[in-house]
Amino acid sequence: MNDDIPFDKNLNLAPDVVDAPMDGVRRIMANNPGPFTFKGTLSYIIGRGKVAIVDPGPDDPAHIAALLGAVRNETVTHIFVTHTHRDHSPAVPAIKAATGATVYAEGPHRAARPLHIGEHNPLDASADRDFRPDVALKDGEVLTGAGWAVEAVKTPGHTANHMAYALKDANILFAGDHVMGWATSIVAPPDGAMSDYMDSLAKLARRKETTYFPGHGPAILDAPRFVNYYILHRKAREASILHRLSKGSTDIPTIVRAIYIGIDPRLTGAAGLSVLAHLEDLVARGLAETDGQPAVDGIYRLPG
Ligand SMILES: [Zn+2]
Repeated sequence: MNDDIPFDKNLNLAPDVVDAPMDGVRRIMANNPGPFTFKGTLSYIIGRGKVAIVDPGPDDPAHIAALLGAVRNETVTHIFVTHTHRDHSPAVPAIKAATGATVYAEGPHRAARPLHIGEHNPLDASADRDFRPDVALKDGEVLTGAGWAVEAVKTPGHTANHMAYALKDANILFAGDHVMGWATSIVAPPDGAMSDYMDSLAKLARRKETTYFPGHGPAILDAPRFVNYYILHRKAREASILHRLSKGSTDIPTIVRAIYIGIDPRLTGAAGLSVLAHLEDLVARGLAETDGQPAVDGIYRLPG
């Protein structure tokens, strides 16, 4: 599965070593490899002298030390956070305490919708619920630093508070986990929402940035084309789910077995939530039905 998207898994970075993929952008990868993080979370440094950090990363003393070491003799004026998963934001308090930088993000962690009665949030452990920005950003807001300017690009879907950051006049977008070069992004209810996610992809497809630096994996060159592949992939997944429902009522585990052939067993739970995300969207659009609220253990069918 996912062979339809031209993924690039070439990223030869040692953990916690500074790398400069281009002039004015440095990156440091945390040592947190895994099925959701690829080789590790990437923290970025924008500028020279007076700099911004994008996504300080997990609460890992080695990564925090490496990040602070990289900006020794420089001033960190801004910390930008793409979203509040535990591999992206928990290092913020340590970096803020050491640098005095102001923390910018869309807002605290929150779910995309309220929990249904009796529903427990399977994503609780992945969220950094302690995070609070100093400044809550609105879509399109521009922050100016020393020799650079960054535009906040609201991109909900992976999480409700996801922000990407465009480096003005450089055709660069720090894409967080919204679009990644090595794999599809996870969209899992209740924290994520497929309708928001698709809207955010469509929004990015209309923008001009050509290079994306994601939270995980190598830079994406030719980004607009890549975003279109992402959109087509989601539409194909939706069509596969509808095709499955056309054969009769079914449940999410059956759909996962049918459409995620050869999936890493560690990702089966995430795949089920991703199918739930599609089904929530299909039910809202009147293209699928279930009894009560769309739930991970529900039975789904075509209307009529
Ligand atoms: Zn994430």
